[in-house]
Amino acid sequence: MPEKSLAAYEPVVGPEAISQLRQLGDQLKGARVVHVNSTRVGGGVAEILNWLTPLMNDLGLDTSWETVTGNEAFFNATKAFHNGLQGSRFPLTDTMIEAYEQTVAENAERLRGILEEADFVFIHDPQPAYLLELCPNRKGHWIWRCHIDASHPNRLVWNYLKRRVAGYDASIFSMPNFAQSLPHPQFIIAPSIDPLSDKNRELPAEEIDDTMRRYHIGRDLPIVTQISRFDRFKDPIGVINAFNLLNGSVDARLVLAGGGATDDPEGEAVFEEVLLAARGNDRIIAMQLPNDAHRTINSLQRASAIVIQKSIQEGFGLTVTEAMWKSKPVIGGNVGGIRLQVHNHHTGYLVDTPEGAALRIRELLEQPEHLAKIGRRARKFVKHNFLLTRHLREYLTLMLSLRRGLENHLIRVSP
Ligand code: UDP
Repeated sequence: MPEKSLAAYEPVVGPEAISQLRQLGDQLKGARVVHVNSTRVGGGVAEILNWLTPLMNDLGLDTSWETVTGNEAFFNATKAFHNGLQGSRFPLTDTMIEAYEQTVAENAERLRGILEEADFVFIHDPQPAYLLELCPNRKGHWIWRCHIDASHPNRLVWNYLKRRVAGYDASIFSMPNFAQSLPHPQFIIAPSIDPLSDKNRELPAEEIDDTMRRYHIGRDLPIVTQISRFDRFKDPIGVINAFNLLNGSVDARLVLAGGGATDDPEGEAVFEEVLLAARGNDRIIAMQLPNDAHRTINSLQRASAIVIQKSIQEGFGLTVTEAMWKSKPVIGGNVGGIRLQVHNHHTGYLVDTPEGAALRIRELLEQPEHLAKIGRRARKFVKHNFLLTRHLREYLTLMLSLRRGLENHLIRVSP
């Protein structure tokens, strides 16, 4: 993992934001922090932990990032939890629960030492959630960080997961309406992007040109892009339907690009569906990317006139933030965390249907000045709300409040 330093962000966010972080960090110096998720590559959580871990270290906290590993049965079960939290209906079987609990128990053998010693443990999403019960001698604060839109979960799945997460000291959700009834404090913290990562930094124009040439994407027409894991909740087929509805009335190319996360077993099947739906329209380019294609994604986003994220469920949608930071108008599904970022008609457009998406694509491509204005507002909005310094500040504040809560409690019960 390349090391990062907070000082490098000063030109982007200003000195005050950095000094605020240093002051908060001073109060937590030496604290042992462990983040646990289930993949180092692919998906928004890995994206965040890539900068959060080194920046917490730069502030003097002793932070590490661990992952739970598992076999196909485990990731099929956790993908079912993931889909179930997002509301999918399916039977939660005993076999799934068994595969899940057994794999987390195997991981606990490896991780117990570091987790029980840590002052703060952040468990990201359902995959590692069961670890808490397997670490009976834990001494720190355990926080369950749910990155998923859990506002209308499948009840069977939630009833099971609730038992796994009820014992945590706190949980974090990205939006107030994702929060669930749990017997501990719940915090609302929106995700963010790293403006200096390979995914988001400025790129030389030649590099963008090279990338487009490498993938045979002609720049003679405006490009409309969706970058996502191939996942049904990202609705790639809906994007193709929207594009086909334009029926040649607007000259453009559509790019659908994404790879699989190592913890997502459904990607291949969805990609096959996408190829089938795109067949016959040579202005649609669907491509799979390797997991470390950060600069390629950066180039694709920068080369696009419009970025689409037509999800039908979305915890947050870092791809939306990434595009907005690059001054691109986003046409986003009117769901979950996309609504935090895309303010309809101001920082982008929210759509409910392929028809709506088609209408907005046409409108934006026909009015380049309007397109540019929305793009400028989008960048400003991300600068003020969704860069990593705000996110880090909220994590530090949460940790301090948990620690102080405990101290107060001890003071109250002491004679
Ligand atoms: N991403 C990536 N490669 C891909 C697809 C996505 O690196 O093939 C990145 C994308 O740029 C973003 C993150 O993975 O940073 C996806 O986060 P998001 O919140 O949009 O969705 P998630 O995949 O977590 O549901």
